[in-house]
Amino acid sequence: MTEIKFLFCKTHRREEDEGMSDIDTIVVGAGIGGLTAAESLKRCGQKVLVLEATDRPGGRMVKITRKNGDSAEAGAQGIHSNYTELLAMLDRFGMKDQLRPSFGKVQYLDHSGAPRISGGSSDLARIVGAQGKLDLGYFWMKYFTFAKKFPQFEAVRDIPEYDNVSAAQELSWAGRDFTDFVLRPMSWAMANSTPDKIGMYYIVNGLRLRMTTKIMGLANGNESLTQKLANTVPVRYGARVKSVVTTKGVVDGIELEDGTSIKASHVILSCTAAIAGQLLTEEFGPIKRFLTDYTHTPLSLVFFFLDRPVDRESYAFMGHPFRNAMFNMALDHSKKTPFLAPSGKAIISAWPAFPRSVDLIKKTDAEIIEQARTDLEDFFPGFSPWIEEARVIHHHRAVARYEPGMYRKVLDFKKKAEGFRGLSFAGTDYDSIHMESGVRSGQRAAARALRGA
Ligand SMILES: Cc1cc2nc3c(=O)[nH]c(=O)nc-3n(C[C@H](O)[C@H](O)[C@H](O)COP(=O)(O)OP(=O)(O)OC[C@H]3O[C@@H](n4cnc5c(N)ncnc54)[C@H](O)[C@@H]3O)c2cc1C
Repeated sequence: MTEIKFLFCKTHRREEDEGMSDIDTIVVGAGIGGLTAAESLKRCGQKVLVLEATDRPGGRMVKITRKNGDSAEAGAQGIHSNYTELLAMLDRFGMKDQLRPSFGKVQYLDHSGAPRISGGSSDLARIVGAQGKLDLGYFWMKYFTFAKKFPQFEAVRDIPEYDNVSAAQELSWAGRDFTDFVLRPMSWAMANSTPDKIGMYYIVNGLRLRMTTKIMGLANGNESLTQKLANTVPVRYGARVKSVVTTKGVVDGIELEDGTSIKASHVILSCTAAIAGQLLTEEFGPIKRFLTDYTHTPLSLVFFFLDRPVDRESYAFMGHPFRNAMFNMALDHSKKTPFLAPSGKAIISAWPAFPRSVDLIKKTDAEIIEQARTDLEDFFPGFSPWIEEARVIHHHRAVARYEPGMYRKVLDFKKKAEGFRGLSFAGTDYDSIHMESGVRSGQRAAARALRGA
């Protein structure tokens, strides 16, 4: 990050340039990545324009709100205490005092369907039994204490022994209790995937994050940060970009879906990777194909607003594979982020996991709600009559899916992307799923635009 900070503001726009209408940099997408890039460039005197397809900033940072004022995070859930660049940004905007701790216990269902509650490692050790405890100890030593080190929020290093193997393959030595109470819930919670679909690299990264950081949220919702950022730069909403425009192989603008073109010296694509692929012209060949085929996990989340609090100790609820349920994880937002739900009534969200989450795309909202309601009865017996309202939030490209081999592919992509002129990429998909990666990728893209790459 030192290099980026040094580069910033060395290329201030000259005063005599101020009257020019030419745009230095167009940023496609008003998520955390794009807005960070745009705000960084504006501070350095660049003339920037953010083009956003929807009518709001924030992208996957989104909050769901009820008429009574209660709300819950429906996208990015938690800010970890080691999000250094994001925390520095909050500080700069005078928003650090809006951080609130977010914590609580986790409830597991055991083989018989009975609840088991864990407030920390010692509780978990009791739940997994004697063999599970040994497995947990070995897992901990190998992948936490003696794990190979790598940057948590920037994909810069390939570690083939972590990248080329799925979590299920790598941990196949473990017994049933470890798999049921540790590995599977970890994969659901950290990656919204099953262990056979997620690379070990991602699990090692997630474990480190979980064990070394505290989780927080912003008093007005995490999207309030992107709203703040969006107020500092020009953003055109309802502006869906159709394609980048090139002249002699150099990107020098974009075309909007309505057919208008806008010229700029640099374009930063900060929409999800798959959409970035669609916006590239055929001359980008294999890079266009890599991005277009990029694997994302779709998530349809169901939010149940209840007429009362639920009398449970935990804020997170993990199912058990014997249930064969679509929704194997639930959160009680009135416990997790009580500062967002002043009425105290419970807001319960139901979470599916890849690959079954794909099946929900074809279903109606009514069918999805009914499935979630049935599945969550195991966590909250008899809760159905308490439901005042149910809503579905669809994230068609919720999080990047780091399947085995994905780090290598992303590193190859980044190397090739360095060669493109007039074009940079930002967004979490190229590093890790975390908001912190969005901030860092935005800063990197801004530094590249300032270099005149
Ligand atoms: C359910 C869920 C839970 C999560 N939990 C966490 C968490 O606990 N902690 C954490 O750090 N992260 C979490 N994340 C991840 C985090 O929210 C995202 O990684 C991050 O917000 C993505 O930011 P981004 O700028 O890369 O992309 P986005 O937020 O997706 O922004 C891209 C923007 O581009 C726009 N766009 C797309 N196509 C076009 C086009 N053609 N023209 C113009 N604009 C376009 C989109 O509308 C969008 O606004 C979670 C995500 C989800 C979905």
